[in-house]
Amino acid sequence: MPPLESDHITRLAPSPTGALHLGNARTFAINWALARQRAWRVILRIEDLDGPRIKPGADQQAIDDLTWLGLDWDEQAPHQTADLSPYRNALEQLDQQNLTYICNCTRRDIEQAQSAPHSDDHETRYPGTCRDANRETGAIRIVIPDEAIDYDDQLHGRRTINVQQQVGDFLVATKAGLPAYQLAVVIDDARQGVTDVVRADDLLASTGRQLWLYRMLNLTPLPRYWHLPLIIGEDGRRLAKRHGDTRIAPYREQGVPPARVVGLLAWYSGVSPERTPMDINTFATAFNLDKLPRCPAVFTLEDHHWLLDDA
Ligand code: GLU
Repeated sequence: MPPLESDHITRLAPSPTGALHLGNARTFAINWALARQRAWRVILRIEDLDGPRIKPGADQQAIDDLTWLGLDWDEQAPHQTADLSPYRNALEQLDQQNLTYICNCTRRDIEQAQSAPHSDDHETRYPGTCRDANRETGAIRIVIPDEAIDYDDQLHGRRTINVQQQVGDFLVATKAGLPAYQLAVVIDDARQGVTDVVRADDLLASTGRQLWLYRMLNLTPLPRYWHLPLIIGEDGRRLAKRHGDTRIAPYREQGVPPARVVGLLAWYSGVSPERTPMDINTFATAFNLDKLPRCPAVFTLEDHHWLLDDA
């Protein structure tokens, strides 16, 4: 039995940039199962700072999809855009320490300055072009030392990341003046008292950046990080539009019951030996992190047909 940790807090943090798909659904279902098993408090936080990518109505859609799956939460945090002052204060604090600078490089400028092909997660390393340039307007970057940072991931074990080598000085605010994801997530996790960040491996590479921000903003304690495997398509790539419509909503509209979706996620998560319908409470009780396959789950056409079997 996992230990009871009733003073812990986690968050479900959907970005309303599109509807929830099976990959997000599995991450949220596992996050919720861990929370229910260990008595963590669950906060729902809609992360709506991603300007042009935010789709109107997608916040409510995410809430509807999560509720339809059977998930619930103890509290909903205000939307991030409701009040930008916590992020602005953090930027101010970094600026006072001379840790930020304005950058007006385009993506193309950065790619052209790249001397060698970049390996880590296809992210481009920023070479620091504007560090001493005194630009007037642009995005804001943070000065990152060439130094490794390490932490213990609950699934990956000890990890060491040198953020300067990985991505260089990264963005903390966009040129539109909005806080960047890396900054916003740290400020929110810290002010909401989040102790357990459960998310998918696509954000594993971001953790080093977030740990630097905790350090530079003097925020404690650090959360525990749990990075879960992704769901991929049969071509080995991260689940996306090219794999057909893997969003929850269209299945729902076609009459697929939530127990089918949860049943598929349960099979992917080592909870059941075969695809079999399951309600979310059974999933939450039976989920065992030790049995979770550590490699990505593969969504196949057969899975798609199985979901529709009962519709
Ligand atoms: N809102 C982010 C996403 O949907 C998750 C952020 C996080 O868990 O740190 O990808």
